[in-house]
Amino acid sequence: MPRTELLAEADRLMTVCNSCRYCEGLCAVFPAMEMRRAFTDGDLAYFANLCHGCGACYYDCQFSPPHEFNVNVPRNLAALRAETYRTYAWPGALAGLFARNGLAVALIAALSVAGFLIGFVAANDPAALFGSRSGPGAFYRLMPHAAMAWLFGLAFLYAVLALAMGVRAFWRDIGEPAATLLAPGPLARAAHDAATLRYLDGGGVGCMNDATPAPDRRRVFHHLTFYGFLLCFAATCVATLYHYLLGREAPYAWYDLPVVLGTLGGLGLVVGPAGLLAIRRRRDPVLQDLPRAGMDVGFLVMLLSTALSGLLLLVLRDGAAMGILLALHLGVVFGLFITLPYGKFVHAIYRFAALVRYARERRTLAHS
Ligand code: SF4
Ligand code: SF4
Repeated sequence: MPRTELLAEADRLMTVCNSCRYCEGLCAVFPAMEMRRAFTDGDLAYFANLCHGCGACYYDCQFSPPHEFNVNVPRNLAALRAETYRTYAWPGALAGLFARNGLAVALIAALSVAGFLIGFVAANDPAALFGSRSGPGAFYRLMPHAAMAWLFGLAFLYAVLALAMGVRAFWRDIGEPAATLLAPGPLARAAHDAATLRYLDGGGVGCMNDATPAPDRRRVFHHLTFYGFLLCFAATCVATLYHYLLGREAPYAWYDLPVVLGTLGGLGLVVGPAGLLAIRRRRDPVLQDLPRAGMDVGFLVMLLSTALSGLLLLVLRDGAAMGILLALHLGVVFGLFITLPYGKFVHAIYRFAALVRYARERRTLAHS
């Protein structure tokens, strides 16, 4: 099959960079590139997902425009990353959701919220949406716990399956045997690098929005988003244990562990995505893959909406707005779950896999 334009351009850029090697201290992409003389499509997909888009190699480059070599690694790898998301989407018939992704995600979320509103009214009566309820089990008078658990459990399992199938195809294409993905050494190294965002620092100067090194806020906001997401996930898991093991029904008091974890996670998911959205507006367009900007914005807005609707529900849960806010929150969370494999979230999965491969390659090199 002929190479796509993006792959051909990535090959050209990596060939130039492999002769130059000026940027080898900036991130993992350049050392990974230096381990090769020629680049397969799988290698280029691997580099694209190893790149954090920090921008440092564009401003450091003596061959960036207006030089005739026209070297712009961050933008090419960003566009190629997005192409890999479509290539590895499972099932392939849904890969089209990555085109006009912001619009697709917004429509799915809106339909999901509408579905919960209609479902609440159909299962109760219209007035039920505006009635005040409080105390344990208040949420489940609008939607039974078993229905909620089945619906969200199935959506979550579907997302996990689709993501696993995608990463399986990616792993096969980059030429790694399945066993490497579970090797403890590379896995531990990659987990450390991902948890600390080790390569999102432009080699020490910080993430660059333009030619001037700025305070590293992109990294801070990314951390808040990542750990906010994990805390919210932990809150859901603990609440499930409360329900099934302790027989305690939501909503819980403010000092209960699910609420504490969810509140901290929610705050992270407000500040982190809001900060990342603000930074995007100031970022030099030359670094960005602008046709795919809607994917980033759509995912950040979904995270922000999840957190804001959850926090509002927490504050107003004893009043008449509880029914509407519960439908809003559940609708946004459900929309987020089913779009996880078809939006920006996939970058976390593919980047982690790329970090595992990088750790494996470094080990092999060290022992050779
Ligand atoms: S980005 Fe430019 S300076 Fe950096 S390695 Fe490539 S060609 Fe050299
Ligand atoms: S943009 Fe940053 S992470 Fe990506 S290749 Fe350049 S220096 Fe590495």
